[in-house]
Amino acid sequence: MKQVQFAYQSEESFVEQLRAFQKNGAEGARLFQIYSEVLDPAVIQDVTAAIEECFPDTPYIGCSTSGNIIDCELSGNITVVCTEFELPTTRFEIFQYDMEKLAVDDITAQIVEETRKNPWVKAIEMYFTIPEGSTTRFCDGLKEIREDIQIFGGVSCSDDITSDDSCVFTKAYGFSETSIIIVFYGGEDFHVDSIKVTGWKPLGREFHVTKSQGSLLQELDGIPAYDVYHKYLNIKNDENFFYNTLEFPLFYEHNDTTILRTPVSSNADGSINMTSDMDIGSVVRISYGDPGTILESIRHDSQRIAQFGPDVLHIFSCAARRTFWTNKEPTYEIQPFHDISASCGFFSHGEFLRTKGNLNQHNVTLVIAAMREGAKKASAALPETQDRNTMSRVPLVSRLATFISVTSLELENTNKQLALVNDKLKMAAIIDGLTGLYNRKEIQGQIEKALADVKKEQFSLVMLDIDNFKQVNDTYGHQEGDSVIVALADILRNGRTGLMQSSGRWGGEEFMVLLRGTDASSAAYIADLMRECFANTGFPGIRPQTVSLGVTQAKEDDTVDTLCTRVDTALYRAKKNGKNRVEIE
Ligand code: GH3
Ligand code: MG
Ligand code: MG
Repeated sequence: MKQVQFAYQSEESFVEQLRAFQKNGAEGARLFQIYSEVLDPAVIQDVTAAIEECFPDTPYIGCSTSGNIIDCELSGNITVVCTEFELPTTRFEIFQYDMEKLAVDDITAQIVEETRKNPWVKAIEMYFTIPEGSTTRFCDGLKEIREDIQIFGGVSCSDDITSDDSCVFTKAYGFSETSIIIVFYGGEDFHVDSIKVTGWKPLGREFHVTKSQGSLLQELDGIPAYDVYHKYLNIKNDENFFYNTLEFPLFYEHNDTTILRTPVSSNADGSINMTSDMDIGSVVRISYGDPGTILESIRHDSQRIAQFGPDVLHIFSCAARRTFWTNKEPTYEIQPFHDISASCGFFSHGEFLRTKGNLNQHNVTLVIAAMREGAKKASAALPETQDRNTMSRVPLVSRLATFISVTSLELENTNKQLALVNDKLKMAAIIDGLTGLYNRKEIQGQIEKALADVKKEQFSLVMLDIDNFKQVNDTYGHQEGDSVIVALADILRNGRTGLMQSSGRWGGEEFMVLLRGTDASSAAYIADLMRECFANTGFPGIRPQTVSLGVTQAKEDDTVDTLCTRVDTALYRAKKNGKNRVEIE
């Protein structure tokens, strides 16, 4: 592949350049690409008319941009490149889908179908006009595309990054403000690699998405999402919201990859419009651009691209990154790619990349697609390593951000530990240590609650006391005695009756069971099952044991005292009448 570039000043000078290019008479297929900061269809028409005049059979594609890139430098506001494919095996095909005329699902179904019909496809490049809402459905719709096909691209825009104006155009389908261009690349000798670089670092504490609807982010940790930006960054809910949040996107994990997502606008109710769905439960952090981290990530990833040995690089860089490097060249961060190969691209409104089979839309991200025909180019230069001097002069803001991040991480960990201890304390306050059943205070509280509702739901109590338990202790020892207590507790906990039951340790070897929705006779039946089950429980080295049970049903005029006294009387009668039996009072 070869990239030929043209500087567009006027239609005449452009035609002259095209004529000169015509004479070099290359044999392979060609594709023109137009990047335009000018959205006026009449101006774009001048460019495309010149191409059509000189190269009537050559396809072209184009999009509006927020700045154009040639060989890792900012180029003119209308930039044209021609890609020449040198090997006859390389193929490409162009499609354009109008999002106003076709449903998203129809578009994705058609793209998937085209990839099935064209097994030679290895890469899909996409140029989107600014979509109305979330692109999640579109991205998910391409999941079925063969796993090994790489997908990358960008959202076209204009030099005003707060504006919604954008356009794309192709020779076959014309100019559109609501379309997606899809370019298939492939063939036996075509090779592709694609990467994304962010370099943005999470800042401060984490937030949970607690309320959202598609791409409308309503609440973080139960408060309006906008309040988070206001409280932590003092960003106001006004017309500058988009601009002010641009450098502080939300950072989160989705589809097994990290995503940066900038708010598009804020609403009066404090919700924020995002470019993609924000699922409830996602854990997000505000992030910031750290120059050192960005340059380090780029150095690392540019080496991978250099090793790939590309013919051309296609660059999709978020317009926010351009504003980030305001005191440097707009293309400062991509310089390491300059010596690797020819490149072209633009500053975009959103970037697409398929990672681990999932296509994601990113913001504030740099996506680079490296393409080549045939064997890798041995001459590809490895980018220089970072100048030590610049790396050691870490700006104050970066140090402070690290300080804030580490401090909030420590606080988060301490809070998590405190929450665990708190849970344990809460449990310890209501659970009996030996048996794991509720303690007396808790079961008493539950009886009190059940009594308050007794008009709506009847309930009964079963009180149990192990028979002749002193002898167990005296004969086998206290520890063995404990195991008998635990065995009875296990029977009460695993009550196989399927009823709502709460069991508690009343004291020593006495237990209280609350049976909701149960009258006295059903309770007595259940109590007898408990009795039988315990009598049939074997203990290694100890003779079988028995338990006596009292049963009573709660009455409307009962207090906890009268109710418990009655069940105790029933239990006393069971003891008196020979033990290992149930009595109702
Ligand atoms: P009865 O059939 O009349 O209930 O006779 P009993 O021997 O079981 O008499 P009582 O219920 O009064 O005896 C309770 C005994 O349980 C007294 C105490 O030593 C013992 N005990 C109380 N709590 C525990 C405990 O946590 N572990 C053990 N091993 N024994 C306990
Ligand atoms: Mg007792
Ligand atoms: Mg006893």
